[in-house]
Amino acid sequence: FMELSRKVMQIQPSATLKTSAMAKQMIADGIDVINLGIGEPDYQTPDNIKQAAIDSIQNGKASFYTPATGLPELKRAISARIEADHGYHFDPSQIVVTDGAKMALFTLFQVILNPDDEVLLPVPYWVSYSEQVKLASGVPVEVGTDRQLRFTVADLEAQRTPKTKALVLNSPQNPSGLVFSQEELTAIVNWAVKNDILVIADEIYEKLLYNGNHFTSVLELGDANMDHIVLINGVSKAYSMTGWRIGYAAGPKAIMAKMGVVLGHAASNPAAVSQYAAIEAFSGDQSSVETMRQGFEARLNELYPLISGLPGFKMTGGKPAGAFYMFPDVTEALRLTGYSDTPAFVQAVLEDAHVGLVPGEAFGLPGHVRLSYATDMELLREAYRRLQKFMEQKI
Ligand code: PLP
Repeated sequence: FMELSRKVMQIQPSATLKTSAMAKQMIADGIDVINLGIGEPDYQTPDNIKQAAIDSIQNGKASFYTPATGLPELKRAISARIEADHGYHFDPSQIVVTDGAKMALFTLFQVILNPDDEVLLPVPYWVSYSEQVKLASGVPVEVGTDRQLRFTVADLEAQRTPKTKALVLNSPQNPSGLVFSQEELTAIVNWAVKNDILVIADEIYEKLLYNGNHFTSVLELGDANMDHIVLINGVSKAYSMTGWRIGYAAGPKAIMAKMGVVLGHAASNPAAVSQYAAIEAFSGDQSSVETMRQGFEARLNELYPLISGLPGFKMTGGKPAGAFYMFPDVTEALRLTGYSDTPAFVQAVLEDAHVGLVPGEAFGLPGHVRLSYATDMELLREAYRRLQKFMEQKI
C-alpha cells in the first residue's frame, strides 16, 4: 500500500544466498543436492574456541552489553594478532569489532560516502560490495581486468573520476582465489595514495593460501600508506566461525570513531559470547588454522584437474592460490550445451545434476561460475561425476 524506499528498490538480493536457498529448499524436499554454492568452511569451530564461549556464558560475562565497538580485550587480541602476522601495530582505538566482516564493510561505506561518491570494484568482486555501496548512496564502478582476472593501475586509472572515493582490494579474492603479489599491491596502493583514494583491503581469506603461494598484506607495504588504508578481516573463514558473526575494521582513527557512532545507533555490540570466542580464536593456539588449511589444499589439488578437464570449463586465472573457490570460465560450456546465459546453465545444473553453483553475474562477470570446495572430498568427487554426466548428456 505504500511506496518503498527508492534506495532499497535498486538493491538485488544476495545471489549467492539466493542459489543457496534454492538448493537448501531442494534438500529439504528430500532431493540429494550437493551444494557447492556456499561460501563457508565445512569444518567445526575448533574446541578451544567453543570452550571459551561456554566459559563466558557460565561465568556470567556473556550476559551483558559490551562497548558498541567491541571488548577492549578483543581489540587488544586483534591488534596483537595483526602485529604478530604482519608487523604493523594498530592502537586498539583504531579497531572496530562488528557482526561479521560484512557489517564492518557496510558501516564503513555509511561513514565514508556522500551521495554519488564512487567506489572502484575490480571484477570479479564479492556480491555484497556493490549493493552496500548503493545502500550508502554511493555508486559502484566496475574495473575491468585482463583474461587472467588480474587488474592493473591502468585499469584503475581508466575508471578514476573526481568522485572516486575508495577502491576495494580483495586478496585472496572471492570468487577467483587470486592473490596479488607484493609488486602488484605496491603499484595499486601507491596509485591510490597519490590520488587520495581510500584502499579498503578485504583480507578475510588471508590464512587460506595453498601450494606454497605467499600472501602479502597491504599492511606490509610501508607505514606511509596507512592513512589511506582500512583493513577488513574477521574470524569466519580462518577459524571456521561463520555462524558466530565477528569481523572487524582497522584503520584511521577518525573513520573508526565515526563507525563507532553509527554502530552505537544501529547494532550496538556484536554478541558478547561471540566476542569471547573470538578472543580465544585470535590469541589461543593457532594450529587448527593450519590443519584446516591443509584440508582445503588437498581438496583443491584433487578437484582442480577434474574441473579444468570438464568440456568447456576454462580456468582463465590458472590454479587458485587462495580462498576456497574455483571460478571457471564456462562460455564454451554454454555454447556446447546451448544455454543462453550462466543463470540458465546454473539452474539446469541444479535441477538436473543436483549440484549447486553460483552464476558469475553475482560477481560482475557473466560467463563464469563459482564453486566452493569447502566440502567433504567424497562429495566433491560425486559433484564432479554429476557435472561430467550433465555435460555429456547436454552436448
Ligand atoms: N568478504 C568476502 C570477500 C567474503 O567472501 C565474505 C564472506 O563470504 C565476507 C567478506 C564476509 O564475511 P563475514 O561477514 O562472515 O565475516
